[in-house]
Amino acid sequence: MTTWIEPAADDPFGLHNLPLCATRAGWTGVRAGDLILNLAAAEEAGLVDAGGTFTGAKTLNRFLATGRPTWTRVREQLTELFTGAKTATIEGMLHPVAGTALALPFEVADYVDFYSSEEHANNLSRIFRPDSPTLLPNWKSLPVGYHGRAGTVVVSGTDIPRPHGQRKAPDEERPSHGPSRRLDVEAELGFVVGASSEGVIGVDDFREHVFGAVLVNDWSARDIQAWEYVPLGPFLGKSFATSVSPWVVPLDALEPVKAAAVVQDPPVLPYLREAERYSYDIRCEIRWNGTLVSRPPYAGIYWTPAQQLAHLTANGAWARTGDLYASGTISGATPEQTGSFIERTWNGAHPVRLDDGTTRSFLLDGDTVTISASGWCSDGVVVGFGEVTGTVVTRV
Ligand code: CA
Repeated sequence: MTTWIEPAADDPFGLHNLPLCATRAGWTGVRAGDLILNLAAAEEAGLVDAGGTFTGAKTLNRFLATGRPTWTRVREQLTELFTGAKTATIEGMLHPVAGTALALPFEVADYVDFYSSEEHANNLSRIFRPDSPTLLPNWKSLPVGYHGRAGTVVVSGTDIPRPHGQRKAPDEERPSHGPSRRLDVEAELGFVVGASSEGVIGVDDFREHVFGAVLVNDWSARDIQAWEYVPLGPFLGKSFATSVSPWVVPLDALEPVKAAAVVQDPPVLPYLREAERYSYDIRCEIRWNGTLVSRPPYAGIYWTPAQQLAHLTANGAWARTGDLYASGTISGATPEQTGSFIERTWNGAHPVRLDDGTTRSFLLDGDTVTISASGWCSDGVVVGFGEVTGTVVTRV
């Protein structure tokens, strides 16, 4: 395919990707190479037809709600636009990625976070419950998750004030309240529901409802979490902030990076059984103040996003446009593949050394964490997610 987008087609943001975004200037866009096309302007000029859902829209929600036939049509129209003649009209709708301030791409309806990496679940269990079996009896029967706080999902680049909360270390006699002493990250992939449903979504209908994926950093205050989580699960140790990348990568762009999913044993119940079971070969990198400290691989996740969505609606709960559900921390088999610092440093027993010579176990005020990711296709095509970054600041 020839295109006037520079750089060429092996760019992680080439025409095979076309992730969507929202800008602080109040319009939605699509990225091609190092440029963002103003979708409202393109729609007003008749270059794309999204049923008017880009026009006047500050977020992607109205477009996401249209469903797969419109998503497919618009993707085809955008591909035609970027491979056709570059007219002066189109030129006037293009903005450089560098210098365009991005906003939260969609208004988050509900936010659910799963716990679907077996390595992560095993690691956390060994750290939090050293005397118990590593996996609880339900873990391989259903995708364990919890409802998070949609209102504190923020776009990449937003500062993260250190949360305060109640905590009690095992060697402390009484709980106290104050700034978290064990602030951590969780590298995850988040899936964005476009087409809503007033009820059950079958495990094979995932693509009809989910538009695409974002990178997620589920900031976690381990000391608050450890004291509060029994028996109802995560609460204030998680709800203070969740960061997402500004680019929503369409599922269509992830088709080439599909990968075999792990075989589930024991077999799952019929409502979780996929006709075609697959994962995605998406590889993350976590940088702590610029130092690469981990490379979590997504492909080995135990519960797929199709199973997670089927489970999350299996009780009849509605799925709404803008619902975000995250994979759970992505951890591989080695310490250098873990998606959180509590695992990477084994609860502080093995601090990591940063390039400036300092060491870390948990986050200090002023620390910046950047998670990036790309999808890898067997023929070498790379699909970029960009990054989700955030700096911890002292709460005033
Ligand atoms: Ca999480």
